[in-house]
Amino acid sequence: MGDALGMPLEFGPRQPADRLVREMQAGRLPAGTFTDDTEMALALAESMLVVSRRDPVNGSADPSTFTPAQALGDEVAERFVSWYRTGPDDIGNHTRAVLSRIAGGETWQDAVEAAQRRRPESAGNGSVMRCWPVALAHWGDVDRLLADSRLQSQVTHPHRECVAGCAFVNAAVYRLLHGIEPAEAVGWALEVAAVPQPLRLVIESAPSRRREELQNSGWVRDTLESAVWGLLTTDSFEEAVVQVVSLGNDPDTAGAVVGAMAGAAYGCESIPAAWHEALRGEWPPGSGRIWRAQDLAGISDRLVEIPTGPEPNSGAPSNA
Ligand SMILES: [Mg+2]
Repeated sequence: MGDALGMPLEFGPRQPADRLVREMQAGRLPAGTFTDDTEMALALAESMLVVSRRDPVNGSADPSTFTPAQALGDEVAERFVSWYRTGPDDIGNHTRAVLSRIAGGETWQDAVEAAQRRRPESAGNGSVMRCWPVALAHWGDVDRLLADSRLQSQVTHPHRECVAGCAFVNAAVYRLLHGIEPAEAVGWALEVAAVPQPLRLVIESAPSRRREELQNSGWVRDTLESAVWGLLTTDSFEEAVVQVVSLGNDPDTAGAVVGAMAGAAYGCESIPAAWHEALRGEWPPGSGRIWRAQDLAGISDRLVEIPTGPEPNSGAPSNA
């Protein structure tokens, strides 16, 4: 929802405070269309289902219907590359640098190391924007939630603030799904995600920022600052998302992140009906299959239904 609401404002200026964007509007795509943020989240969601031996389309758990589960990192890399090969027009520079190397035959580990070596300080928001499916898949197991949140970042965004940022967002979602108040959920998430000090200070001071101070750029620090500011200075899903996307610059991504957290806080029923009606996107790209809000709810339900227990094939005892 946040991705689609922010789509027409991407790279644009901050909206005046008396003209916040409250309705799905057309931009380079029709009104209500989601972008790469949600597309990569869907690729991640399908990866989570497949490694859990669930059919990604109908959620059935008949292991005879699919190939043996592989490691999540490999599965995610494969699905991200499949998406990259469809030629998405909305793709982050760093994500493209990594995925083009994997598409060229490198392992994801070699590709991401080479891309990060060229720009060691690169810490974009390309992994926090898509990380929420891990929180749904592991809503009952915070250790696996943290581990898989970090791993899915490492496939493209290994910078420590990106990795910790994903663990932070999903830890907050985890707490919010369990009914904890937003401020308390954020404070807890900062602790369990072991967020590095510079990013931690940005997140802790976010609620006291004025909207004019927020850069809302593609830097992971700016995105998390905006998202936490939106979550903690409003008291509804709608207002949190409206405030954040109206900051402009990289609003679809910050909108996706605050949408994940505010959605966990306030629930599906808090989504404005007009947004629910307007949401759409083709997935996989080029397939002709149009996803609507109920399809996103459907894959979310399938993620939540993944049983908490031992890793497939691991024989390890359950944490539960
Ligand atoms: Mg986008």
